[in-house]
Amino acid sequence: MGHAQRNTVVTTVKNKCRVCFTCVRECPVKAIKIIDGQAEVLGERCIGCGNCVTVCSQNAKVILDLKDEVEKLLNDKSKKVVAMVAPSFPAEFIEYDDHKILIGMIRKLGFDKILDVAFGADLIARKYKRLLEERDDKTFISSDCPAIVFYVEHYHPELVDRLAPIASPMVATSRVARDLYGKDIKTVFIGPCIAKKAESDEIDEGLTFTELREMFEKHNITPENSEPSGFDGPLSGMGSLFPMSRGLLQNVKKSDNVIEGNMIVDSGKQNFKEAIKEVENEEISGYHLELLCCDGCMMGPGMSDRNNFYFKWSQISKYAKTKLQNLDVKQWQENIDQFNHIDLKQSFTPMDRRDDTPDEEKIEQILREMGKFEESDHLNCGACGYHRCYDHAVAVAQGYAEDKMCLPYTIEQLHQSVEELNTTNDKLKTTKLELKHSEKLANMGQISAGIAHELNNPLGVITMYSNIVLEELKKDNPMRNDIKLIVDQADRCKNIVSGLLNFARKNKIRVKEVDIVAFLNRSLDSVIIPDNVKASVISNVTNPYVMIDEEQMLQVFTNLEKNAVEAMPNGGELKIYVDGNENNVVIRVTDTGVGIPKENMDKMFTPFFTTKDVGKGTGLGLPLVYGIIKMHNGKINVKSNSDTDEGQTGTEFIITLPRVN
Ligand code: ADP
Ligand code: MG
Repeated sequence: MGHAQRNTVVTTVKNKCRVCFTCVRECPVKAIKIIDGQAEVLGERCIGCGNCVTVCSQNAKVILDLKDEVEKLLNDKSKKVVAMVAPSFPAEFIEYDDHKILIGMIRKLGFDKILDVAFGADLIARKYKRLLEERDDKTFISSDCPAIVFYVEHYHPELVDRLAPIASPMVATSRVARDLYGKDIKTVFIGPCIAKKAESDEIDEGLTFTELREMFEKHNITPENSEPSGFDGPLSGMGSLFPMSRGLLQNVKKSDNVIEGNMIVDSGKQNFKEAIKEVENEEISGYHLELLCCDGCMMGPGMSDRNNFYFKWSQISKYAKTKLQNLDVKQWQENIDQFNHIDLKQSFTPMDRRDDTPDEEKIEQILREMGKFEESDHLNCGACGYHRCYDHAVAVAQGYAEDKMCLPYTIEQLHQSVEELNTTNDKLKTTKLELKHSEKLANMGQISAGIAHELNNPLGVITMYSNIVLEELKKDNPMRNDIKLIVDQADRCKNIVSGLLNFARKNKIRVKEVDIVAFLNRSLDSVIIPDNVKASVISNVTNPYVMIDEEQMLQVFTNLEKNAVEAMPNGGELKIYVDGNENNVVIRVTDTGVGIPKENMDKMFTPFFTTKDVGKGTGLGLPLVYGIIKMHNGKINVKSNSDTDEGQTGTEFIITLPRVN
């Protein structure tokens, strides 16, 4: 921007930004950088239009506040301070039906003189008229809107000579003020515009209408405690219409009929860009472009509200109409002539702020990273604030934007994360279940060891003495059967106890390399397989070697095989499949037995769970199997069907063992 010290009229409040990208979308020059999820206004690129300020619902953008500076000027009695009020005030201070109330209140703040900027507009209107009459075929762009001027200087520097070389109404008024009150005065512009705060070094400070209201409040200045008074200095005329987008046009009494007037009038943040681009491309020539960044100054960001366009329009028009009706035209003309000598020229300097376009390859790469591989992936949804995906990628390459700003891309990433989370969740669930099993088994191990130890000795005594008694009894002794029963039951107890001891002892493994296929075939020999059961090992591996504790693993498979056989009282098939890859072997022990009912599936590995008759099952087989597999860092799963309606019944235990432990 222009004003020496003030190249930033809008700043960002840290941490207030909620990253909606509305400011990016609304900024006509993309002077907003998104870093770490926070929007930051780039003073260098900003043209001071204030769009970002008005659209931010979080109040995360603040306008450069010069109230304190103005207070300082007012307190320093050594210099006259002149206020210059923009002609859009009737659209802001609608509560005062006479403008003298407002002027009186401003005076009470301590301003020595108050000038009407509309007079400056009257003065420059004459210059514009002459320019339009004299300019051959050259297209001029009006230079009264500072945001438009900044835009041309920064982004179309080669068009700077097309800016009308005429001062703005504000600058013209300040020159009038110095002519009237001397060079040594201080000037304060009061208006709806924030770019004005940086427009010119000729003006000392700038206030928005909103800030003026704040100052009234601070000093408790009300219509009741102030004396109404009119503007100082010369009377203004048509210049009062200036804040409406056709203001200048009215002023020079030209029609915007293209044939008659060769004047194009436009306002609003997109339209002015289009118009200037067309001038650059020489698509239009021989016209005058009357451009305003806002929809007329009366819709500027320094207004306390930016609604009710037509109402504002009517307020200004009403004010101007009454004023013109009562205007002393002779007096006005005299004023104009009185200030005719004032130099109203203005020059502009190119200040190129354009970035180099990043190379195409980089842009392509960024687009690919955002999941955009083909033209059809370019949704151009605008959610990121940029018009097209391509523009977004350019901004990413230039360091102004982040790829995370792409909503469809982020949503897709989120979906992926959710899926990953689900998988992790599932894994967690299984691990939790496994942990529960392990815990139960560990507890069981301790208890079993204790019980087994205590029972083993008395049981030994019972077995030994009942056997002695049995041997000593004559064959025909009627007591024999009873003693035999004691011997059998004591044997049964010994079996249970030795099972418990087995279970408790399994806490260490000693592995060696074993040919698993040969080993499985051998394991079948240790199980009594009835004639009606066909047992076989089917190998699909070329490398059968696995590191296992052979003795313990033998218990695993004999238990599984026994269970399978017991599940097939009427015969069937017991098949053991061996599959695998270079890291694992997968052994599936399958049978065509009765299957396991669904309700028993999660009880199977619980110690003492058995469905077998008393004396037949102990319910210690599968817990033992589970413990040994876990010690081998393996996994065991079960699939089973016990419902004939669902097809062949049977069970499949799937064991995965790492080849190396
Ligand atoms: P037990 O064989 O002493 O009953 P296990 O721990 O070996 O104890 O087995 C527990 C229970 O799991 C069995 O009682 C049975 O209900 C069920 N089971 C185990 N393997 C099979 C199988 N192959 N087919 C059907 N049920 C099975
Ligand atoms: Mg068993």
